[in-house]
Amino acid sequence: MQHGAARDKIDHRASVPRNRPDGRFAPSPTGLLHVGNLRTALLAWLFARSSGARFLLRVEDLDRSRVRPGIEETQLADLQAIGLDWDGPVVRQSERMKLYEETIARLDVDGLLYPCYCTRKEIRAAASAPHGISAADRYPGTCRNLTKAERAEREATGRPPALRVRAKGRRVFFEDRLLGHHEGETDDFVVRRNDGAPAYQLAVVVDDAAQGIGEVVRGADLVDSTPRQILLNRLLGLPIPRYTHVPLVLGPDGHRLAKRHGAVTLADRALVGEGPGEVLGWMARSLGLAEPGEVPSIATLLSRFDPKRLPREPTVWSAET
Ligand code: GLU
Repeated sequence: MQHGAARDKIDHRASVPRNRPDGRFAPSPTGLLHVGNLRTALLAWLFARSSGARFLLRVEDLDRSRVRPGIEETQLADLQAIGLDWDGPVVRQSERMKLYEETIARLDVDGLLYPCYCTRKEIRAAASAPHGISAADRYPGTCRNLTKAERAEREATGRPPALRVRAKGRRVFFEDRLLGHHEGETDDFVVRRNDGAPAYQLAVVVDDAAQGIGEVVRGADLVDSTPRQILLNRLLGLPIPRYTHVPLVLGPDGHRLAKRHGAVTLADRALVGEGPGEVLGWMARSLGLAEPGEVPSIATLLSRFDPKRLPREPTVWSAET
């Protein structure tokens, strides 16, 4: 099948970015923002504002079991405290279920989905070669071609299925603004979880398109999701944004910054006598946007911002920097 090989590749490198690269920050209200999350938000804001684009805020609150009351309000207050502003009302994913359901139905009508009855444990046990997405997260295709009888057998267990997309192992190529050329193979990822909730991959794609996002700026830990999202955009005929994955802030142990690394939120920093302006100063210095000891305003950072001069490596958190 000569044609097959060509069809199995998606090359996004030639796509023309939108004129106005509207940006966004999309926190999940599951825990307070730490200096790493705040730095990603700051960068997303700087990318958008420095090109005269809109900056939108979206609360990703679909995973109801992990959402914690009051966190969203504190996250928004913390973003404002470091000087960020945004356009229009805050969008909440929990209020957009209809849109996700309609999109899932569209994919289903086009024959692009299938039910999957596997447990997480079964997927992990069956997962094979690691490619980008960790081996444990890669779906090996167990339920892709079930016979009617096999499906009936699984349905009889009463366990509701998740819905997966038929990705056909397509490779996706894209050019990240900071990381450069990237490619990854897509697996049959979940678009509706077995508890009925739309999956992160689906909701992000639907919302970025609906909100007119031209440039997705987010942490480098999400880069392995991007091929899946580009594929979904393609299957849905949606415009594909530009992607910019920014370096993370790590704890002293080299792992992604987290609560266990100490005083890492604005509330924690306040307890050690540091205000939001000083935290902004740390972020600015860590990004090469300020001199040692300097505490610049957000307007100064905007005037100095140059994507080409951003560090490409993660920063290790240290309160003394
Ligand atoms: N809600 C995701 C998170 O907090 C971010 C999703 C995205 O930026 O695409 O990690």
